[in-house]
Amino acid sequence: MICEMCGKEVPQTRPVIVEGSRLNVCPGCSRFGEDYRASSSKGAPVTQSVIEERLEKRERRMKSKDIYAGSASVELVDDYGGVIRAAREAKGMDQEQFAASILEKKGIIAKIESNSLIPDDKIIKKIEKALGIKLTETVQSGAVVGSGAGSKRMTLANFIRKE
Ligand SMILES: [Zn+2]
Repeated sequence: MICEMCGKEVPQTRPVIVEGSRLNVCPGCSRFGEDYRASSSKGAPVTQSVIEERLEKRERRMKSKDIYAGSASVELVDDYGGVIRAAREAKGMDQEQFAASILEKKGIIAKIESNSLIPDDKIIKKIEKALGIKLTETVQSGAVVGSGAGSKRMTLANFIRKE
């Protein structure tokens, strides 16, 4: 049996009511809920959607917190060379003309367009400005909260412990 609150594999679970929702939980988690049989006669159950709504709010909070906690880095897009080539050709320039327009050597442009040379920040800025394109993207690093199977149960368990 798997505890529906903490996700632990246990020999036996028991049904309890947690904020109006029936869950089969392990003995350790059963203290967070009311006994199923005892509360089922009381009536006026809290609907499942209330819990879900509160969980969603919490998940949103955790996600936005994550964005601040994780570190962001600016990285070149994967096919920067292809992006540059397409934009340059759209402007009707060959590599030589384009190189001259941003005061770089044609060989440099050729290497950048074949993704064999990573341009430095200064050249990136010049190319972006000259062609009106964006060559960088902001990449978020850090743990992603709320993904994967079973995370909702963990979230519920954490949620209840903190309330
Ligand atoms: Zn449990």
